[in-house]
Amino acid sequence: MNKTLLDEVIEHNRSFVDDHRYKQIIIDKKIHKKTVVISCMDARLIELLPGALNMKNSDYVSITTAGAMINDPYDSVMKSLIVALHKFEINEVFIVGHTDCGMNCLKTKDIIGELHPLDDEHSKWLDGFDDYQKNVLHSINIIENHELVPDHIAVHGLLIHSGTDELELIKNGYLF
Ligand SMILES: [Zn+2]
Repeated sequence: MNKTLLDEVIEHNRSFVDDHRYKQIIIDKKIHKKTVVISCMDARLIELLPGALNMKNSDYVSITTAGAMINDPYDSVMKSLIVALHKFEINEVFIVGHTDCGMNCLKTKDIIGELHPLDDEHSKWLDGFDDYQKNVLHSINIIENHELVPDHIAVHGLLIHSGTDELELIKNGYLF
């Protein structure tokens, strides 16, 4: 019988634990740069973003979501952010969008609609965004106007350009 991915994961984990390889990547709980980065869930960003931002895993809390989009002041992204802000004494938040994002101009009716007819309410909830800069600014606006986000938090907006990894400054949160 062919091994499933789950079989491979469990098998790998046994040797990972037995050989104590986990000790090479243990980091402490402290967030050294007291920062939260909210970025897209795109797998290409997992290694690229720390390099582009010059931040290590231990420097920031990472929250990822489709398109770095925050839709609602009470969604799970905001919940994670607010818990992190208070638990880790965060001072700065970076919203980092990226070009060539799968959520840009995504109409979910096109990819889900044939299997699950979507009404307008579901489409509005699931759809992507039309404008990279406006999307980042929209997420910033929700954070800055949230009653549970302390006033001293600087919320910056960046867009990382696919291919060059160049960061475009959309909003300097120190000037708010
Ligand atoms: Zn994306």
